[in-house]
Amino acid sequence: GQKVVLITGCSSGIGMAIAVRLARDENKRYYVIATMRDLKRKDKLVEAAGDAYGRTLSLLTLDVCSDESVKQCVDSVKDRHIDILINNAGVGLVGPIEALSLDDMKQVFETNFFGVVRMLKEVMPDMKRRRSGHILVISSVLGLHGVAFNDIYSASKFATEGLCEGVAIQLLKFNVTVSMIEPGPVNTEFEMKLLTDVSKKEFAGADAETLDHFRNCYLPTQVNLFQGLGQTPEEIAKCTQKVIESPRPPFRNLTNPLYTPIVALKYADETRSLSVHTFYHMLYNLGGVMNVSVRIMKFLSGGWLRRRTISPI
Ligand code: NAD
Repeated sequence: GQKVVLITGCSSGIGMAIAVRLARDENKRYYVIATMRDLKRKDKLVEAAGDAYGRTLSLLTLDVCSDESVKQCVDSVKDRHIDILINNAGVGLVGPIEALSLDDMKQVFETNFFGVVRMLKEVMPDMKRRRSGHILVISSVLGLHGVAFNDIYSASKFATEGLCEGVAIQLLKFNVTVSMIEPGPVNTEFEMKLLTDVSKKEFAGADAETLDHFRNCYLPTQVNLFQGLGQTPEEIAKCTQKVIESPRPPFRNLTNPLYTPIVALKYADETRSLSVHTFYHMLYNLGGVMNVSVRIMKFLSGGWLRRRTISPI
């Protein structure tokens, strides 16, 4: 029969693309419950879903930061029956940590980490009882390696990866599968907004030298990586569907093959120095140079490293 899929954060970006792709499945294998904080923001999704809306796609309100909202939403699903839970809602935060407020940092964890915890607490017990289910998390390559000036976001994704590694073991006993989707850069409006907001922000609290690194090394590298290697939300949706339909869904799933070598550096050198030094050079020595990081990523993924290391996927 049809599988019930509940997705968080569907008003834009990757969540919206996954909702539309699954709801428009030719064979109507999915009944999608697309959730968002504020249903006033439903128009783009409804338009993209076309005639799937009202048939294989329905909408519900869900704020992953509210216990009440999560419970109300799941309670309003027929028999509380969810076959596939896709934790997508997330927020970003960039900048030198000296210049970021603890409140902003906590908000990132509240959404990216505790948001997933809330969903798990509400959905997992039913899946265990039914002895079936698939839980996915839209994590990030930044859940696998750190990048300067993305420290808090990266930490929130590492935390989620750690959480799910443990949960995956426990749930295997109940025939429930857990999969992490780890995209590299994805060109969503959110990302562009983040970068333009950042160029206006003052970042009081950070010294001039750090701010110079942030503005003149980090930001140009980021822009180049997004322009040179960025994927579309639709590509992430396609990967996610592939994982859902896999007979044995892997735990970790990179979506961008160009990131395989840079992630594999961690596994190639257990001291992690290789990773730290590679990112250091990409940031400080090459950051300002147009597209060099992009060329390094492409070189590595075509070259020796891919042949010598085991794919982390
Ligand atoms: P996006 O901003 O378009 O999507 C995030 C969605 O989450 C938005 O619709 C937002 O309204 C929603 N959201 C935020 N807080 C929420 C809350 N408390 N409750 C419910 N919904 C909430 O950006 P996106 O790029 O589509 O991000 C989706 C996921 O993909 C995030 O978890 C993000 O960390 C991850 N990701 C993004 C990229 C990228 O480069 N864009 C790369 C790797 C991973």
